[in-house]
Amino acid sequence: MAHDVTLIPGDGIGPEIVEATRRVVDASGASIKWHVVDAGQDIMAEYGTPLPDNVLESIRQNGVALKGPITTPVGSGFRSVNVALRKELDLYVNLRPALTIPGVKSRYEGIDLVVVRENTEDLYAGVEHMVGEDAAESIKIITRKASERVIRFAFEYARREGRRKVTVVHKANILKYTDGLFLETGRQVAAGYDDIEFEDRIVDNMCMQLVQKPELYDVMVMANLYGDIVSDLCAGLVGGLGVAPGANIGDNMAVFEPVHGSAPKYAGKNKANPTATILSAVLMLKHLGEAEAADRVFEAVRAVIGAGERVTYDLGGDAGTSDIADAIIETM
Ligand code: NAD
Repeated sequence: MAHDVTLIPGDGIGPEIVEATRRVVDASGASIKWHVVDAGQDIMAEYGTPLPDNVLESIRQNGVALKGPITTPVGSGFRSVNVALRKELDLYVNLRPALTIPGVKSRYEGIDLVVVRENTEDLYAGVEHMVGEDAAESIKIITRKASERVIRFAFEYARREGRRKVTVVHKANILKYTDGLFLETGRQVAAGYDDIEFEDRIVDNMCMQLVQKPELYDVMVMANLYGDIVSDLCAGLVGGLGVAPGANIGDNMAVFEPVHGSAPKYAGKNKANPTATILSAVLMLKHLGEAEAADRVFEAVRAVIGAGERVTYDLGGDAGTSDIADAIIETM
């Protein structure tokens, strides 16, 4: 039976990289029925909003979506569609694997890390205001409930994926209440997972260690702001944004999307690298239980990038968005 999946092309380079990804997934052996819905700045004039209700309805109905990047214009008045989606659908986990793909230029080899970022609270709750004219205040919110569910996700993920260790990342030495609560919750959750090693690291030390000894780490779980920063650091370890996939996951729904944005300067030029979106689709296929199709796509991506002949500009080649997709499909 076909899986019903919501497909959001997005804007900027979104439509091209999503189309390339859709062709790859359709050739993978998995049977997907795509429900295409539009969001983003290109539909503002028609709908009066960048996130029409039918987008949320479609994701709620199908439970799974593949999404292209969406522009958040600075000072335009509309809030980020990406943040709104995560909030509306309570997608409380942001999952970002960082895996070395031979052929992608990087200072490191053999990186295999996963950042599990809390997606709903911390300083991202946006509780911020001026205090008079010369001071500003932002409130960091950490709850036991949100900490528990994201940390539990990290342990369940580690178990399911055959990983050995979960590291809780924090700054509880200074932020004794907020990060203290996150760490305490981590210790409590870890007690239920004898088969997975548990440790904690202070976030600044974590950053240094990741740069010096990334092989010591495996799955890392952390609050929103640290997750934002550390996951970009990890993307840097494997060669950057062009190959960094992501997923936003809740209890009943998941939205898969690349980490990078809409790169407006390359929109419509058939230049952008679709690999991060294709690797996000690999995560999606696994989520759908289509492990064989996921492996097939992943191995073809590795083969095409490893050969280095039909790759996009950012990987040192001159192939277009559609060419690299063709190469992956032919390899499969
Ligand atoms: P960006 O990721 O779009 O671009 C950063 C740099 O990486 C640029 O030099 C770009 O050319 C390059 N790049 C990005 N993706 C690429 C790809 N697939 N292939 C080749 N090169 C690629 O970041 P930005 O310029 O800061 O953001 C542009 C817009 O995207 C902003 O409006 C931002 O808010 C939005 N954004 C959306 C999401 C999302 O939809 N989840 C995420 C991040 C940024």
